[in-house]
Amino acid sequence: MRATFIGPPGAGKGTQAMMAAKTLGIPHLSTGDLLREEVQHASKLGLEAQGYMKAGKLVPDSLVLAVLRARLARPDATRGFILDGYPRNLDQAKELERMVALDRAIYFEVNIEELVTRLVERRTCATCHRVYNRKTQPPRVPDVCDDDGSALVHRPDDNREAVTTRFEVYQKETAPLLSYYQRQGILRTIPAMGSVKDIQVRVLSEMR
Ligand SMILES: [Zn+2]
Repeated sequence: MRATFIGPPGAGKGTQAMMAAKTLGIPHLSTGDLLREEVQHASKLGLEAQGYMKAGKLVPDSLVLAVLRARLARPDATRGFILDGYPRNLDQAKELERMVALDRAIYFEVNIEELVTRLVERRTCATCHRVYNRKTQPPRVPDVCDDDGSALVHRPDDNREAVTTRFEVYQKETAPLLSYYQRQGILRTIPAMGSVKDIQVRVLSEMR
């Protein structure tokens, strides 16, 4: 099962990808995490990426793709994988397809009101970047990470206005991507509302 999870920031796809990957025994590949790993290991690609990050610039597509290519070549990815956060637009989807064919594109459909509420309640671990939600997915101890005890932080741009703008930009970029996967017959749309558990059931039923 080679899948990509598509959804706006805050749709919960990262959490769902992590859970589904565990259940299916395949790696969860987030391009953000992969880039951070390369930087930590000070690899050639990592040092290059770090240059852009330090300058406050976006890491170019070609570099993200190179990192992804290296990761997909590792043995654990041969049985399948779940991509989280990539591709984000049609150009990236076409680049990816030159590298590997996907079996599924799972789209997390959210309603903007619910998304805003989720993001306002979202907290992220400062150390491991695990994402929590004070309402739907709280840590055992308020504002403390279950995994490493670090403080959870709230992103200042997770406010109503910023979220609405991000959502609009996202929809504009993603619409062509969805049509593309629709035409390939691999798109599955999941209502990303309700509990994390309920959504996971929907996700897994589309990945058989
Ligand atoms: Zn943590």
